[in-house]
Amino acid sequence: NIQLSDRVQAIKPSPTLAITARANALKAAGKDIIGLGAGEPDFDTPQHIKDAAIKAIENGFTKYTAVGGTPGLKQAIVDKFQRENGFSYQTNQVLVSCGGKQSFYNLAQAYINPGDEVIVPAPYWVSYPDMVLLAGGVPVIIAAPQSQGFKITPDQLRAAITPKTKLFVINSPSNPSGAAYSLDELKALGAVLKDFPHVLIATDDMYEHIVWKEGGFCNILNACPELYDRMMVLNGVSKAYSMTGWRIGYCAGPKDLIAAMENIQSQSTSNPTSISQVAAETALNGDQGFIRDMVKAFKERHDYVVSELNSIDGLECLETDGTFYAFPSAHRLMERLGLENDLALTELLIENGVAIVPGSAFGCDGNIRLSIATSMSNLQKAMERMKKALA
Ligand code: PLP
Repeated sequence: NIQLSDRVQAIKPSPTLAITARANALKAAGKDIIGLGAGEPDFDTPQHIKDAAIKAIENGFTKYTAVGGTPGLKQAIVDKFQRENGFSYQTNQVLVSCGGKQSFYNLAQAYINPGDEVIVPAPYWVSYPDMVLLAGGVPVIIAAPQSQGFKITPDQLRAAITPKTKLFVINSPSNPSGAAYSLDELKALGAVLKDFPHVLIATDDMYEHIVWKEGGFCNILNACPELYDRMMVLNGVSKAYSMTGWRIGYCAGPKDLIAAMENIQSQSTSNPTSISQVAAETALNGDQGFIRDMVKAFKERHDYVVSELNSIDGLECLETDGTFYAFPSAHRLMERLGLENDLALTELLIENGVAIVPGSAFGCDGNIRLSIATSMSNLQKAMERMKKALA
């Protein structure tokens, strides 16, 4: 009878990974399942990126690197921030980690004390609250339901801030909702944050490049450059370059905090994979045409799926601003079918050959998340199955 730590008992396994595993197991058992649970692009990593990695192996670039990333990749990240976002960083303000997930994990471990409050708007990426809990912090969830376009208001933010608030997390465009804040909306949130200098801001820009919103991508640092000294900008190559398996994320912020985060990393994983770092450097410095083609495909699928979902009685799906998710409300549908909650709906759908993720996993009961990162023909089949199962 093994006594587990309190720490690990406070958290749950990632529900999105669990659904994907369940769908894969059913598939392996011979069931015909269309997986709309996955949080990764269905495209192959571009060839020039793979070639760079193959060359790195052949050149023997297969040993430990500096814990926080190679000088070449760090410089590519500094250049990327300047070129694409207009942000000025030095390489000592940059940390490369094993995926965006580790970037946020390092931040939580290096910055949060037991009892510290972290404000997380819901729906949220599943890992924020649990990583806060692992650090002993207290997630303070602000509800941003579909009726608000999945965005929090400045008043909600102000009301959530206390003397114990240490961090505010913003993810725009958002996984799972696909909603992105406008520059004006970010300015209004920034105006609130200016009144509370004890609060650090983490902007998770993982979906920066998968955007079709008018005016394109912007984050809260674009909206409020004055917040530079207490801003952590998190990003990575996983989604933009279809490199989820390579495990490279990065962030930039105040250099003392970055150094502390690097310290955490030095005592856990050490450097991210040397080969993946070469690939990521090539991705950031190289031709960006791949992203354009991928986003075009996602937008076509988005238009199709959103319209199909809205044709199902009881589902209400907003157009998204980006990402590769649709996040319809299923409240009326569940009522119509007499389903108790979104888990029951998820179960019904998987029995009918479609794997999705319940909104409750993201702190938004009654919505469901469908990934459109699969072929149009798969999406067509999935929509047919859903229409039939939910008729
Ligand atoms: N942030 C958000 C909002 C995400 O959706 C994800 C992946 O699902 C990540 C960060 C982490 O990405 P990775 O660790 O695969 O680089």
